[in-house]
Amino acid sequence: MAEKKSENQSDIKATPLLAQYLKLREEYPDYLLFFRLGDFYELFFEDARTASKVLDIALTKRGKYKGEDVPMCGVPFHACESYLAKLVHFGYKIAICEQTEDPKEAKKRGYKSIVNREVVRLVTAGTLTEDPLLEAKANNFLLSINKFAGVLGAAWMDISTGEFYTQEFKIGEENEIALLSMLLMRLMPSEILVPESHIANKAVYNLLHNGCGQMTVWPDERFNPLSTKKRLLSVYGVDTLTAFGDFVTTEVCAAGALAEYVEISQKGKMPLLQRLTKLTNTTAMEIDNATRRSLELTRSMKGTNEATLLKTIDRTLTSGGGRLLVSRLSTPLKERGLIESRLDMIEFFVKCKEARGEVRALLREVLDMERALARLTLGRGGPRDLQNINRTLELVPALRNIIHFKAKVPVVEVAIPPVLQAAMSNLGEHGSLNAKLNSALADDLPYLSRDGNFVRDGYSAALDSMRELKTNSQKVIAELQARYTKETDIATLRIKYNNVIGYFIEVPTKAAEQLLKDPNFIFRQSVLNAVRFTTTELTEMEDRIRSADEKCLALELEIYGDLVMSVQASAKDIIKAAQAFAEIDVAAGLADLAVQYNYCRPILDEGTAFEIIEGRHPVVEQFLQSESKASFVANDCVMGENDNNLWLLTGPNMAGKSTFLRQNAIIAIMAQMGSFVPAKSAHIGLINKIFSRVGAADDLARGQSTFMVEMIETAAILNQADERSFVILDEIGRGTATFDGLSIAWAVVEYLHNTNRCRTIFATHYHELTALKEKLTHLSLHCMRVKEFNGEVVFMHEVGDGAADRSYGIHVAQIAGLPPKVIKRAKGILQNLENQNKGMSPDEAQGMLPLFCYAREATEEPEVKISALEEALQKICPDELSPREALTKIYELKKIAQENL
Ligand code: ATP
Repeated sequence: MAEKKSENQSDIKATPLLAQYLKLREEYPDYLLFFRLGDFYELFFEDARTASKVLDIALTKRGKYKGEDVPMCGVPFHACESYLAKLVHFGYKIAICEQTEDPKEAKKRGYKSIVNREVVRLVTAGTLTEDPLLEAKANNFLLSINKFAGVLGAAWMDISTGEFYTQEFKIGEENEIALLSMLLMRLMPSEILVPESHIANKAVYNLLHNGCGQMTVWPDERFNPLSTKKRLLSVYGVDTLTAFGDFVTTEVCAAGALAEYVEISQKGKMPLLQRLTKLTNTTAMEIDNATRRSLELTRSMKGTNEATLLKTIDRTLTSGGGRLLVSRLSTPLKERGLIESRLDMIEFFVKCKEARGEVRALLREVLDMERALARLTLGRGGPRDLQNINRTLELVPALRNIIHFKAKVPVVEVAIPPVLQAAMSNLGEHGSLNAKLNSALADDLPYLSRDGNFVRDGYSAALDSMRELKTNSQKVIAELQARYTKETDIATLRIKYNNVIGYFIEVPTKAAEQLLKDPNFIFRQSVLNAVRFTTTELTEMEDRIRSADEKCLALELEIYGDLVMSVQASAKDIIKAAQAFAEIDVAAGLADLAVQYNYCRPILDEGTAFEIIEGRHPVVEQFLQSESKASFVANDCVMGENDNNLWLLTGPNMAGKSTFLRQNAIIAIMAQMGSFVPAKSAHIGLINKIFSRVGAADDLARGQSTFMVEMIETAAILNQADERSFVILDEIGRGTATFDGLSIAWAVVEYLHNTNRCRTIFATHYHELTALKEKLTHLSLHCMRVKEFNGEVVFMHEVGDGAADRSYGIHVAQIAGLPPKVIKRAKGILQNLENQNKGMSPDEAQGMLPLFCYAREATEEPEVKISALEEALQKICPDELSPREALTKIYELKKIAQENL
């Protein structure tokens, strides 16, 4: 009875282990607690239910608490990364709780003592460092924002590479959302840290909540100017931030809070941060969200990576190069100096084929040093990270030699431009670090340092002698097995080892009887078909081996710590080298692309020219080539300085208007990110902002119709574009009634011409707009050429001067498979409308828009006759009929039908 009572008590009270769990659980309410028990991370209660569902693993139970079963599920600790990745992907944050003492130590406190456990790391989307959890060619940014006195301060960090940036934005009520969403689209952060007061605004909350993977809200006090500044000073070990840049208070608040958040999530371990860099609004070309989306720079309209400009131009061979390319494409520049130096490096690799080929072959061997270094600094690295850094640094002399010597190979020696010389010098000298790592690291390396056996024989005398002892002991075990086999005459006797009971002697069950009688052999356990024994001699031997093992591992870990310190001591040089590798990779990759597709070096200056000769759309061109379809038709776009800078482009459907519009915007972006461009020649007066309104898109999630989105985007262009901007507009006003749409398009063209005065290509089906040529001096008319042959329409994809005569919309509808009856009818209506419109002058067109006539004519369609049966049906009101009346009506209808057959 007494026993029964105590059992019930324990059902209600938490066991010491559960009490330890519950205490930690309480400290991390927003996290799933991964609680280390032996070789597993276990989750309990609600966490277990959630994780078992998300991870699709079995939900079991372990003991009782408050009279109820405790739900539990677990994942093996050595394979936890994929589980963590899935949980993070679904928006969960995880607290990793480890055993922080040796069980032997715990035992010293008493037989029932449990091992100490602590949370050692908080895993969130923005604080990942493991390669399997990260995209190699994409940054993983953690963003923090703070607002004060009309200024938004933003700071973002990639802890897997150590990059850390800030930027300030002047905001007003009206543009706060637009600014924030531009920032989110540009950086694509996986996590955002935000002060409580900032999300009091519902629109801001919704945007941030939906705009990135995870959002963490902190009280405003943690963004306090004094404490955040102090934090940054201590992180960088400096007395002032002036050397880094001229930061405004909100930037400091955002950056300092971010540093604190990272420190907390990494439990005091700070990643190795690169210099805090302030980005200014004067250096980057402005690209708003709609433009990024419609030009499909790094994401397609569908939200995937396929068919994007990035995918098309990415020839990088290293992870660092891939990340650098994304950053350059996301942030083209508007200052010439830096762009030209990037172009210089590409030009070198274009001209020097030999260097390009060999450098690219060597770059295939380059490993991700930035991320390896970040893991080592956070104590999360391993011997392979050391080796990755070592192997990559070893490539430096060869890379330098290739560039030096191959530059001389072409008939006319290619001069190495200063920017490439600087990159080569930034690659640095790492001979002594390489020598140390090469002599210390073995050929085959384990993933984790605690697995041991990664130090090369001969590196440490102490380790060598301990290993000798270990090897000898193993030899002694083999000898012992041979002796026991001989003494017992049991040929199948084996000495084996497992993690639970250590070394043991195993004989088949049939042979066990003999040993059970032998006082030297001590019974351990019976298993299926075998019995296990030990002897005093074996136990002593095991102690010796174990201590040799432990000592070997301890020595290796000591050596590992020393190697990590050596690497960290060279951290700055390693980062510099990694960046130089990335720069060279991007340049050689873009050069490779330029050579294959005949791209040219753009000429950039401070004017407002836009002269593209034989320009092409890089994505469409490659697509047509890969599908072995017709080749891409190149087109010119020549706008003079302050003249002819508003192009009105008309032309049939499917003739290539959108492609032409986009290709010019893309050429401008590629030029200003510092890349060769798909054209025969390109002369571009530097563009400060680029705008694209192409194609209609509903934003139903934000409750905006297609037409509303179109108008919002157009408003943004008209309010922001200036003389240095470049604008492409496709079919403004198509989403509303024809008459309204034409009026809006008309007014927009006038405004762009008279007020914005930016370089613009305006594509439209409203041929009436061509009448504006009479009034607007800088407007020029262009059209997509079409040939009619044997009644068939052939799209030439050529841009010519003048206006298109027709849209050929009905022709496209026919190709698309609309029923012949509909096509015939449409042709008839069109004929009518065109007859009405004949002979109208431009003035008439402007004063009394011709579509009035269209509208009148359209309402004068012949009356559609309806049958007697339909007429009778229309008169019936079912709700007013009794069942009997309904039956009668059915008879009546049947009769009418028969009469009209
Ligand atoms: P719509 O008015 O119906 O939107 P559009 O005039 O904008 O049509 P696009 O969508 O640009 O036409 O192009 C139609 C098709 O023609 C695309 O599938 C594209 O692949 C092809 N195309 C466009 N331009 C060219 C070109 N210069 N050379 C070869 N093919 C082209």
